[in-house]
This record gives sequence, structure tokens and C-alpha cells, in this order.
Amino acid sequence: MSDIAKKQKIDSIDYVVKVSKRKGIRMSIAPGGELVVHADPFCSDDTIKQFVKQYTDKIKVQSHPGMIRLFGKSFKIKKVQGQTNHITTCEDEIIIQTKPSADATLVFKEFLNRYAKEVFEDIMDMTILRFKEYSLNKPTLKVRTMKRSWGICHPESNYITLNFELIHYPVEFVEYVICHEFVHLLEPNHSKQFYEILSTVMPDYKRRLDLIEEGKEKQYLM
Ligand SMILES: [Zn+2]
Repeated sequence: MSDIAKKQKIDSIDYVVKVSKRKGIRMSIAPGGELVVHADPFCSDDTIKQFVKQYTDKIKVQSHPGMIRLFGKSFKIKKVQGQTNHITTCEDEIIIQTKPSADATLVFKEFLNRYAKEVFEDIMDMTILRFKEYSLNKPTLKVRTMKRSWGICHPESNYITLNFELIHYPVEFVEYVICHEFVHLLEPNHSKQFYEILSTVMPDYKRRLDLIEEGKEKQYLM
């Protein structure tokens, strides 16, 4: 990644421009939420601005209040009062029912924490099947919000930490992150062998990486 990074602003949205060797323009979102534009040296400022404008218009729609993206799918949030705190999902709606005394945001946040763990565990169960040839014990899972990593692997104590923010990303991407961390249980460094194992267990991992235009900074890659 180039050192040259310019801070810019459009419609009150901050973004950083980084010069990239790859032709054209790409956009990514760092785990900390920062918008990063990767542009080749021949892209003009105007071209970049136009690109960001199109992209942020889309983001504005996606982050409409009362909406949430969970594992790549958008849900409308509906708040209602009831006798118990209870959350239901149906079709494209999430209904947050809370007692009059309860804080709906807090109730929802607790639900999301539980939900993230549940789904991550499920995906881990699926992913471990890819490692049949390797003697791998399913690691323990910890989840927290991290600024600089999607996942961290601790081979010595057989656990992985996943970024809570992954809850907003497509399952296929989350699978990739988990797979990546699992490979680290076998090979701690990003060595040639690491990528050999990764492409054996997940031959389409590159496609999954590209999948997330709401993607990420490669330099923050686990
Ligand atoms: Zn890694």
C-alpha cells in the first residue's frame, strides 16, 4: 500500500485517497469505518470525486435510519411496546418489542451481540468441515469490535477473535475471514504455505474478497 494518502471531503463525508498500482478506482471501508478510495495515479481528482459521490449516495440509502444490514441483507427496524423485551425477525423486518421502562437501543444491541455469536459459531461449524484433511480442533470464539482487524488468531490457546462488525457483511465474506483464521491455526504467517492451504480449503477465496465492495483495507487484513 502506498504511503500517499490524501484526506478529502464530499457532502460532509470524509474519505482518504490512496494511490494504487491497480488500474481504475476501487472503494473500501476500513474496519474502523473510514472510507478509502484506491485510485491509479492517472485518475483525476474530478473522476475520483464523481466516483465517491455515486458510492456515498448508495451508502446513504443503505444506512437509512430505521434500517440495518445483517449478513448482507437489509431489514427494516420496527419498535413496539409490549409486556416483555422480545425481538422477532420476519422477512425483511425486525421487530423490537420492549417494556415501557426498557431502552430499545440497548435491548437491540444485546440481541445483536448474541446473534453475531450464534451465526459466527454456525459458520465456524461449516468452515471446519473444509479442514478434514488437517488435524484441526474447532477453536473457541470471542467477538468484539475491533478497529484494525476482521479477525485475530491465537494458535497457542486455540481461539479466534472475530470483529463484531462482520455482522453487517455477507456470509460468504464472513466465511472467508473464519477460514483465513483457521488456516492461521496451522500456519501463523502469511507464507507461501499459508496461501497454499487457503486456496486448497477455499478455492474461491479471492472472489469472496472482491465480493465486498463494502469491503475493507487489504492492509488491515487479519
Ligand atoms: Zn492473516
